[in-house]
Amino acid sequence: MTLHGKVAVVTGGNSGIGKAVVLALAEAGANIVIDYVSNPEATELLEKQVVALGDKAIGVDADVSKVADLEMLVAKTVEAFGRLDIMVNNAGIETRTSILDTTEEQYERVMAINLKSAFFGTQLAAKQMIKQGGGGRIINMTSVHEDWPMPGNTPYCLSKGGMRMLTRTAGVELGPQGVQVIGVGPGAVATPINTSTMNDPEKMRTLDAAIPLGRMAEPSEIAALVAFLADEGATYLTATTVFADGGIMHSS
Ligand code: NAD
Repeated sequence: MTLHGKVAVVTGGNSGIGKAVVLALAEAGANIVIDYVSNPEATELLEKQVVALGDKAIGVDADVSKVADLEMLVAKTVEAFGRLDIMVNNAGIETRTSILDTTEEQYERVMAINLKSAFFGTQLAAKQMIKQGGGGRIINMTSVHEDWPMPGNTPYCLSKGGMRMLTRTAGVELGPQGVQVIGVGPGAVATPINTSTMNDPEKMRTLDAAIPLGRMAEPSEIAALVAFLADEGATYLTATTVFADGGIMHSS
């Protein structure tokens, strides 16, 4: 329970990797603010999550693509738990479109939900952490595609490449004020974002064959890394990304 007394925000916290991160940080003792986008299914899932975690968690309906919602998310966190120590900028979407077939609307949506959200999430969390005297950690959920082109998913790769530089630059800017900024770069993880691949046995065979460890990651495996980096695993880390990709980036 080494995160006892710490307060964490997890954006996109009631699905896939985010949901697993909420559980891992709560198990480590942190109080959690679960950011989610309200719809009947998400709200039902959130209620189960919050009930399971008792008074250690609250849910906040905040669209991370809007700065006003992010401001509200940080304000509600401080209102509920008095501080903010760990900000996990996790929410993200894909378009699965190439440069030739991406519309302006698709481009703007993926950049707003993936990159703009991480930029302002970092800014607002850092201001609160500095006000507290420093000591905070900001964890950006990037991807192997922060550095590795994926044809047919161009806006996504661009947004993750932006998150890579955000992590580097913000880490350098904020380090002197005691705020660490760290990227987590998963490879393929078994979550709803990969539903179409997981429903296609041929695609799964090809993917598994390309991964040196022979399989996709489970969300809990990425969450365990986030919990480690939120705690003793990152005492001397900032402005860099830790990859959890089963070796896929180096296999071809
Ligand atoms: P997911 O679809 O299960 O979760 C995405 C989450 O983002 C959901 O909770 C969704 O509600 C939330 N979200 C989307 N738009 C939002 C908005 N406007 N405001 C607030 N929340 C919003 O997918 P996942 O795989 O768990 O993805 C989580 C993160 O991990 C993403 O940033 C994704 O790019 C990254 N990632 C995933 C994989 C993978 O293979 N699954 C690999 C590398 C990186």
